[in-house]
Amino acid sequence: MTLSKEETYECPRCAGEAHSDDDFCTHCGELFLEQVPCSVHPDRSAKGACIICAIPFCPECGGWIGRSFLCNQHSGYEIYEEHVRVFGTNDTLQAEYARSCLEKAGLHPIIFSRKASPLSLGAPDYTLFRASGDFDGHIVNELKVMVPAQEVPEAEKRLKGLDLIK
Ligand SMILES: [Zn+2]
Ligand SMILES: [Zn+2]
Ligand SMILES: [Zn+2]
Repeated sequence: MTLSKEETYECPRCAGEAHSDDDFCTHCGELFLEQVPCSVHPDRSAKGACIICAIPFCPECGGWIGRSFLCNQHSGYEIYEEHVRVFGTNDTLQAEYARSCLEKAGLHPIIFSRKASPLSLGAPDYTLFRASGDFDGHIVNELKVMVPAQEVPEAEKRLKGLDLIK
C-alpha cells in the first residue's frame, strides 16, 4: 500500500487520521462534507455522523457526547478510547468466551476492567458516565467487552446469536 500525503489528513476536530474520500471522521463523527442531510429529516442538515452506525444526523437525532458524535439510539453506550462496550459481566470465563467468539468473527474486541486498567474516571474521552460525571446506571466494576465503534452492529449480532445479550 502506498498512500501519498494527499490521501490522508488530520481531522480538524480530533486530529485523528482521515482519508480524502471519507465523508466523515470515523474517530469522532465530524462531517467533512457541507450540507449533508439528516437521515431522518432530509430537509435538515446533519451536524455529525454517529461513530457506531456511521449515519449522519441533525441535532435533534444525535449530538456530541464527550469527543464523539452519537445518534440518540447509541448515545447511552459506554465509550473508552474509541472502543464501545457491547457486553458486561462479572464472570471472567464468560467475558473471555465473548471476547474469543468476537475475535473468531474477525472483530477486534478488548476486555476492559477498571481494576486492570489504570485510568482516571471522567477523562474527557471517557463516556462511561456520559462525559458529564453523572452516574446513569452503568456498572463500573464489571468486565466490559468492548469493540471499535464501527464493529458494534456486527458484534451485537454475534452476541445475540450466542444468547449473551438480548
Ligand atoms: Zn475526528
Ligand atoms: Zn448510531
Ligand atoms: Zn434529524
